[in-house]
Amino acid sequence: MNIAKVVVDVPASQTDRVYDYLIPAKLMDVLQPGMRVIVPFGNRRIMGFVLQISNRTEVDKLKEIQETMDLLPALTPELLDLGVWMGEQTLSFHITALQAMLPQAMKATYKKILVRTGDIPDELQSVFSKDNTALFEQFEQSGVSFAMLQQAIKAGQVELRYQVNSKETKKTVRMLDTKQTTEELQAELSNVNPRAMKQRALLEHFIEEPGPVAQKQLLSIYQTTASTLKPLLDAGILQAYDKEIMRDPYEDRKIEPTKPLELSDSQARALQPILKSILTEKHDVFLLHGVTGSGKTEVYLQAIQQVLDKGQEAIVLVPEIALTPQTVNRFKGRFGSDVAVLHSALSAGEKYDEWRKIQRKQVKVAVGARSAIFAPFENLGIIIIDEEHETSYKQEDHPKYHARDIAIFRGKYHHAPIVLGSATPSLESYARAEKGVYQMLELPERVNDASMPDYQIIDMRDELHAGNRSIFSRELLDQMKERICKKEQTVLFLNRRGYSTFVMCRDCGHTVECPHCDITLTYHRSSEQLKCHYCGYEEPVPHFCPSCESDTIRYFGTGTQKVEETLTQLLPEARVIRMDVDTTRRKGSHEKLLGAFGRGEADILLGTQMIAKGLDFERVTLVGVLAADSMLHLPDFRAAEKTFQLLTQVSGRAGRHALPGEVIIQTYSPEHYSVELAASGDYRPFFQTEMQTRRVFQYPPYYYLALLTISHQNQVKAMQTTQTIVQLLQKHLSDQVRILGPTPSPLARIKDRYRFQCMIKYKNEPNLRDVIRRILHYYEDARKKEDLQIHVDLQPYSL
Ligand code: ADP
Ligand code: ZN
Ligand code: ZN
Repeated sequence: MNIAKVVVDVPASQTDRVYDYLIPAKLMDVLQPGMRVIVPFGNRRIMGFVLQISNRTEVDKLKEIQETMDLLPALTPELLDLGVWMGEQTLSFHITALQAMLPQAMKATYKKILVRTGDIPDELQSVFSKDNTALFEQFEQSGVSFAMLQQAIKAGQVELRYQVNSKETKKTVRMLDTKQTTEELQAELSNVNPRAMKQRALLEHFIEEPGPVAQKQLLSIYQTTASTLKPLLDAGILQAYDKEIMRDPYEDRKIEPTKPLELSDSQARALQPILKSILTEKHDVFLLHGVTGSGKTEVYLQAIQQVLDKGQEAIVLVPEIALTPQTVNRFKGRFGSDVAVLHSALSAGEKYDEWRKIQRKQVKVAVGARSAIFAPFENLGIIIIDEEHETSYKQEDHPKYHARDIAIFRGKYHHAPIVLGSATPSLESYARAEKGVYQMLELPERVNDASMPDYQIIDMRDELHAGNRSIFSRELLDQMKERICKKEQTVLFLNRRGYSTFVMCRDCGHTVECPHCDITLTYHRSSEQLKCHYCGYEEPVPHFCPSCESDTIRYFGTGTQKVEETLTQLLPEARVIRMDVDTTRRKGSHEKLLGAFGRGEADILLGTQMIAKGLDFERVTLVGVLAADSMLHLPDFRAAEKTFQLLTQVSGRAGRHALPGEVIIQTYSPEHYSVELAASGDYRPFFQTEMQTRRVFQYPPYYYLALLTISHQNQVKAMQTTQTIVQLLQKHLSDQVRILGPTPSPLARIKDRYRFQCMIKYKNEPNLRDVIRRILHYYEDARKKEDLQIHVDLQPYSL
C-alpha cells in the first residue's frame, strides 16, 4: 500500500482525473484518504487531496509525495465520495468540489519563491541578502532585470519554486506551569531575595494553587510584568508553553438557557413521524409546511434533542440573512456549547475554529448558512433546512450545488431524516410532497392563539391620482402615526431586489451606463459616486447630462437613505433605525441595532431583505411593504414565487404575540396573483395558480433546466459559438428535449464580454451531462487560447 491516488489542484479537464504518487517512507503510516498533500506537478509543487491509498498503479515512474498538509484527514470518506459525486452532478472539476467543502482558511494559496542553488552573480546578492530563499516579490522590487534572473536559473544558480501557503492560523495563549513539587517550590522560595516581593508572590501562587495558569492572567493578578517572570523561567523553576485555544465568536454574549416547551397539538403531530425516523434510522424527507409563527423552530429543537440523546449529530441550515443573533440564541440557549455556528460574518479564523470543533467532535450541532451542509460530522442523525425555499441555498459559483441535494445525499449515507421547513415552500418541494415523494407535515396556525395579521393592499396609482407623490401612502402614514401614539412598533420593508437608484436626465431621458457592461450605474450617496455592481467600475456623479448637457440630471429610485429622509420629514416625531448594508458593515452592528429596537429605543425599523426574516418582536404590530412588486418585472421564471414568499415572510413579522398585527402592502400591481394571494395568507391557491403557469411555459417543477452561457469579447464569435452548441445539442440529445437559443443573456455584456445563452428544458435525459461534458471538451482549446468562456448551470435557480 504505497501508492496514493491524488486529486491535484489544477482545475482543467485533462487533469480532472486521479494521479498516482509514491508514498515516501516517512509518511507510510501517517497518510490517510482525505488528507491534503503537497506533490510535484510539472515543475511546480501543488496541493492535492488523497482520494485513496492502494498498492496498484499503471504508471511506471512515479513521483513521490513531498509533504502532508494535514495530520487529521480534512475530509471524511463520506465527504470524499460526496465531492466526487457533486463534481459529476454540477459538471465541476473534482478539485473545485473538494475544496468547496472546506473553510476558506484551509484553501491553499501559492507563493513563488526563489531558492539559491549555487554561486550567484553580484547583482542578485541584494535579493538573497540574508537567506538562501527569497520571495519572488523581493526580486521584483530589487530592480534586477528578468534576463539576469533567467540566466541564473539556466545556469542552475537559482531555482523558481512554488510554496504552498495556508492561512490556518491557530490562536494560542501562553501558559505557565511548574514541574516542581510544593516542597521543592518552598525551598526555592527561601532562596529568593526577601525584597523581590513580586517574584515571591508568583512563586507563592504556585505553592498555594498548583496547576497551569495563563501568563496574562497571572501577571494581572499580581500586577507585575514579564520581567519579574524571567528569572523564574531562566532558572527552570517555571515553564512556559503555548496552548492552542479555539476562538469563540459568542464568548461575550450572555445567552439564557431554555427548556423544551410543551408542544401544541399540531406541533406534537408534526414531531411524531420525525422522531420515528430518527429512532429507526430511516432516510425520510419531511416537508414541514408551517405558517409564520407556527413554532417550527421548537419542532426542530426537540427533534435535535432526540438525535443528541441517541449520541448522534445534527446540521441545521438557515439562510444567511436569518442568522440573526435571535436565531443563534435559540439554538445556543437549548444546546449551549454543543453548538457550532458557521456564517459569513465570522472572521476566517473564527470559521476555521468552528469547523475544527466539529472535526474534533467537540460539538454536536452545526448551525449555519449554505456551506454548513458540509460539516464534517460522521454520525449524523438529522439534517434540517429552514426556509428551504431560499435562493441562497443554491451556490452561484462552481460547484453550483443546491444544499437540498447535498442534504439528501448525506441523509441517504447516514440513514438520517431530512426536514425541510418553510411557510412558503419552493414549488419543487411542495409538488414532491403532494406526490408523496416527501412526507408532508403541516402547522396551519400560529402558536399561543396569535392570529394571522390583517392585510391591506394599497394601489399606489390611486395615490398618484389623489395627488400624493410621496413614497408613503396616506394609509401607511396614518397607521404609523397611530403606532407611535400607542407605543407600538413598525417594521418598514423596502424591497430593493431588481430595483436600484440610478441617474437620469429629465430633459432627454439619458441614463448613465457602465462603459463595460449593459447596465445602468448605481448611485452611492455616501461617496457621491456612480458604481457598476458587476465590474466595480466607478465614476463621479456628472453635473451635466453627458448627452444633452442639460443640468437637470437627477438620481431616481428609492434607497433606504432616501426613505429615511422622507420619513423624518413626514413624521418628525418618529425615531427610526435604518438597517442596510451601509449601517451594518461593522461587526456586531447588526446585533446592536436589533437590540436597540427590541428595547423600544425606536418606533420604526426600516430595512431591506435583511430584516425580512427571523425577527420576533413583541411590540411590532405594523408591517409596511414599499414597492411590493419590484421583483415582478425581472426576467425570472420565479419572479411570482419570490414575490409571494417575500410578502408572506415580511408579513410574518407582525403580531406574533398578544397584540394583533396589521400588514400594509404598497404596490403598482395589486391585481397580480402573487400579491393578492400573499394577502390571503393561504399557500395552496398560490401553489395551484403558479403550477399552471409553470406547466404552460414548461418550467420547473414540470421540466428541468440547464443553462449554457457563452461569452467572448467578440460579439459575433460569442453568437456563432452558441449557435454551433445549439446544433450539437440538437444532434446528440433526444427529441423530447427542448433547446432554446441562441439568445442574448438578460445581461448581454459584462466586463466587455458579450454573453449569449442557450436553455435546455428536459424531463428525463440520462445523456445530458455526458453530452455537455463532450461539448466542453470539444471547446477546451478555444477556451484556453481564445478566451472563450462557457458556463453551465444545471438547475439554475432563477433566470
Ligand atoms: P416559526 O419558525 O414557525 O415562524 P417560531 O418557531 O419562531 O415560529 O415560533 C414563534 C414563537 O412561538 C416563538 O416565540 C416561540 O418561542 C413560541 N413557541 C413555539 N412553540 C411554542 C409552544 N409550544 N408553546 C409556547 N410558545 C411556543
Ligand atoms: Zn460594469
Ligand atoms: Zn440629457
